[in-house]
Amino acid sequence: MLPFIDLGAQRRRLGPLVDEAILRVVNHGQYIMGPEVGRLEDALSSFCGARHVITCGNGTDALAMVLMAKGVKPGDAILCPSFTFAATAEVVAWLGATPVFVDIHEDTFNMEPASLEAAIRTARELKLNAVGVIPVDLFGAAIDYDAILPICEREKLWVLCDTAQSFGGSYKGRKLGTFGLATTTSFFPAKPLGCYGDGGAIFTDDDDLAAILRSIRNHGQGIDKYDNVRIGMNGRLDTIQAAVLLEKLKIFEEEIVSRNDIAARYAEGLGDVAVVPVVQDGIVSTWAQYTIRVAPERRDALGPALRERGIPTAIYYPKPLHRQTAYRHYPCAGNGLPVSDKVSGEVISLPMHPYLDDEVQDRIIQAVRELLP
Ligand SMILES: *Cc1c(COP(=O)(O)O)cnc(C)c1O
Repeated sequence: MLPFIDLGAQRRRLGPLVDEAILRVVNHGQYIMGPEVGRLEDALSSFCGARHVITCGNGTDALAMVLMAKGVKPGDAILCPSFTFAATAEVVAWLGATPVFVDIHEDTFNMEPASLEAAIRTARELKLNAVGVIPVDLFGAAIDYDAILPICEREKLWVLCDTAQSFGGSYKGRKLGTFGLATTTSFFPAKPLGCYGDGGAIFTDDDDLAAILRSIRNHGQGIDKYDNVRIGMNGRLDTIQAAVLLEKLKIFEEEIVSRNDIAARYAEGLGDVAVVPVVQDGIVSTWAQYTIRVAPERRDALGPALRERGIPTAIYYPKPLHRQTAYRHYPCAGNGLPVSDKVSGEVISLPMHPYLDDEVQDRIIQAVRELLP
């Protein structure tokens, strides 16, 4: 079986660099908030242009920490997509607030501005206090910030960008990490920039918010660790993971270029047999997933047939959140989310990573073509 994401190939490319970086941490012994953590935060800040970077334990905590810092509480509504990974809405529920689900555009899989406006009306009809929006750049491509941000500004909603899949990408020449109030990402191993365990980060240009987030990360600390001025958590990133990320960040930009070359080859090879993903002009995607769409009956047969030929696939996401047991009681924009419902029956993601060579990719393209006459 081919790997869906070949982390081994990246490890071979990096050679002993990551091993040595890990060993340095083991030897210096500052496992918690060692010097690599601050160095990584500086490197990420230079990379994406955000003034403040607060690394943390994972991408879910990153989202939760921002909501905690904003004082999100029961009665508040946060608007977010349903066609996303559960963490996006989960953190809203953690704080007793209400996620209100927004539909997506089928070409981009990202938040549809008209549905966002409908969700704001829905929240208000339900007498909820709409306070913020969590848009998600699904599969690696940025949302249309120029369409979404003005709506949020007009409605006085803060924006928390979930770039767990798109960090490293850009929108109209500007790297993700500086849009909205804050941006979060995940360093889960399979994300475009992954570590060797769990990890995450928050990006913001807001000095006050950054100070609160640093406090929340360490149990709500005030002047020192044993002065607790707010409810926080243990939200720290391990020093070892920071050391791994420092090495991986050095080759990340090149890897994004490779991902885009591979995506272009898939589009060329499959554009006539499946609906291939469209990235809007001015957006550089990180291609966290390469997701095509085919008719539901064909989609359901395609995965197992490819598996028989040694080609793994994945379905992101088979059931949007508003259809999930844990989330189906939360409100949806307007009369429902027809596009999220439709695409969840059609999507299938193909192997995608920067080390997918032409020969292997041709095998995948050939197999998909044979199975989709
Ligand atoms: C992976 C992911 C997260 C959560 O990140 P973890 O590090 O796994 O907690 C949040 N949002 C989206 C869109 C994701 O893909």
